[in-house]
Amino acid sequence: MAEILVLGAGMVGVTTGLALQARGHQVTIVERGVPGRETSYGNAGLIQTEAVEPYAMPLAPGALIQIALGRGYDVKWNVGGLLSQLNAVWTYALNSLPAGHRRATLTWGKLIRQSTDRHAPLVAAAGADNIIRRDGYIEVHRTAARMEKARVTAKRFMDEFGVEAKLMDGRALRALEPAIKIEVEGATHWADTWTCSDPGGLVAAYAALFERQGGRIVNADAGDLHRAGNGWQVDEHTGEHAVVALGPWSPMLLQRFGLTVPMVFKRGYHRHYHMETPPNHPIADFGNSVVLSPMRRGLRIATAAELTSHPRLTPPQLKHGEKAARELFDIGAPVEAEPWTGRRPCIPDMLPVIGRVPDQPNLWAHFGHGHQGFTLGPVTAEIIADEIDGKQGWAELQPARFKR
Ligand SMILES: Cc1cc2nc3c(=O)[nH]c(=O)nc-3n(C[C@H](O)[C@H](O)[C@H](O)COP(=O)(O)OP(=O)(O)OC[C@H]3O[C@@H](n4cnc5c(N)ncnc54)[C@H](O)[C@@H]3O)c2cc1C
Repeated sequence: MAEILVLGAGMVGVTTGLALQARGHQVTIVERGVPGRETSYGNAGLIQTEAVEPYAMPLAPGALIQIALGRGYDVKWNVGGLLSQLNAVWTYALNSLPAGHRRATLTWGKLIRQSTDRHAPLVAAAGADNIIRRDGYIEVHRTAARMEKARVTAKRFMDEFGVEAKLMDGRALRALEPAIKIEVEGATHWADTWTCSDPGGLVAAYAALFERQGGRIVNADAGDLHRAGNGWQVDEHTGEHAVVALGPWSPMLLQRFGLTVPMVFKRGYHRHYHMETPPNHPIADFGNSVVLSPMRRGLRIATAAELTSHPRLTPPQLKHGEKAARELFDIGAPVEAEPWTGRRPCIPDMLPVIGRVPDQPNLWAHFGHGHQGFTLGPVTAEIIADEIDGKQGWAELQPARFKR
C-alpha cells in the first residue's frame, strides 16, 4: 500500500481520498483553504442521474446571435474573458456539433448514471442523510414550445439511458409545488436525481469521514509540489504518488509539469434569498437560465455561464434570475451582502481529465468535471483509484490526449 498526496479538497479531491483509503492507501489531502468551500460549495446541489448529456455550447443561429449581442442569459461574455480562453472556447464549440457531442455523451452518460449509487454509501457513512433528498428536481416549462421540446428530450433520455421523467401539465405542477404563483405550461419532474440542501456541508461531512478513517487533511499550497526521490512533496508532506484534483486551478499547476490542458472557465454566481415557504424541490427555469434551490441558508438562485476573468459585483444573470424567481415565488431579501462566484472547470471535449500525467511518473490528474463535478466526484474517484492501483483507466479520459 502506498502513501498518496491528493491536491485539493473539493468534492473531487475528498472523494478521491476516500476511494484510495478504501483500497488501503495512506492518504494526505493538501488544501490551501477549508474542504468544500470553493466550486463544490457554490453549486445548485443537484446530484444529477438525469444529466446524461454534457452541456453543449448553444450553436443554433438564433442562440448565437443572442449571445453575440449580449442579450440572452445562458452565456454572457466580455472581450477580455473571451480572448483569454479563445482556443478552448473554439474547440468546445466544434465539439458541441452533433458528432462531437454524441461522442462525449456516450462516455458521460455511463458516468452520470452511476452517481447516486456512488454517493449512497458515502452519505450513509458520513451521516449526511439530513441534507440529502431523494425525490428529484423540477424543470418548469413556461411555454408550449418548451414543453414540446421537453417531451422529445424525455423520450430520448428514456430510450437511450433509461432515465425516468414525469411530464406534467401546469395544474399537476401547482399541486406538487403550491408556492408557484403563476400559470406555466408544464414541467418535467426528474424524480431519480438527488438534491442537497448544503453542498459545502456534504463535502465537509465526507472530509470528516475521511479523517475519522485515518486520512490527513493538511493546510498547504499545492503550488509547492515538487519531486522528492521517486515520489512527490508539498511542504514537509510526501507521497509516492500525487493526484491533482484542484478543479479550475488544475491546468495552472500542470503547466509547470509540461502538460497544457485547455479549459473553459464558466463562471457562475449564486445568492440566497429569504423565503417563508420554499418550494418542495429545486426548480430549474432554464428558459431564464437559472436554478432555484431550497438550501439551509435560503433559496439559492444559481446562474448559468459567464466567460469573464473578473467577477462582477452585480451580475446581470443573477439580476435576471432574481426577476424570474420573483415571478414564480414570493421571495424576500437577499441573505448575503454580495453574491458568491466560482468557475466550472470545463474541458473543451466535455470529458473530465482522469489518469496518468504523461512523462511524470506517479503524477495523476483528476479534474475537469464541468457542470457536474458535485455529482460525479465519487464516480470518477473510483476510476482514478483503480488506475493508481494498476487497473486499466478509461482511454477517452486520459491526460495524454493533450500531449502535442
Ligand atoms: C453556479 C454553479 C452551479 C453548479 N451546479 C452543479 C450541480 O447542481 N450539480 C453538479 O454536479 N455540479 C454543479 N456545478 C459544478 C460543480 O460545482 C463543479 O464541477 C465541482 O464542484 C468541481 O469540484 P472540484 O473538487 O473539481 O473543484 P473545487 O470544489 O473548486 O475544489 C478544488 C479545491 O482545490 C483547492 N485549491 C486550489 N488551489 C490550491 C492550491 N494552490 N493549494 C491547495 N489547494 C488548492 C481549492 O481551495 C478547492 O478546495 C455547478 C457549478 C457552478 C459554478
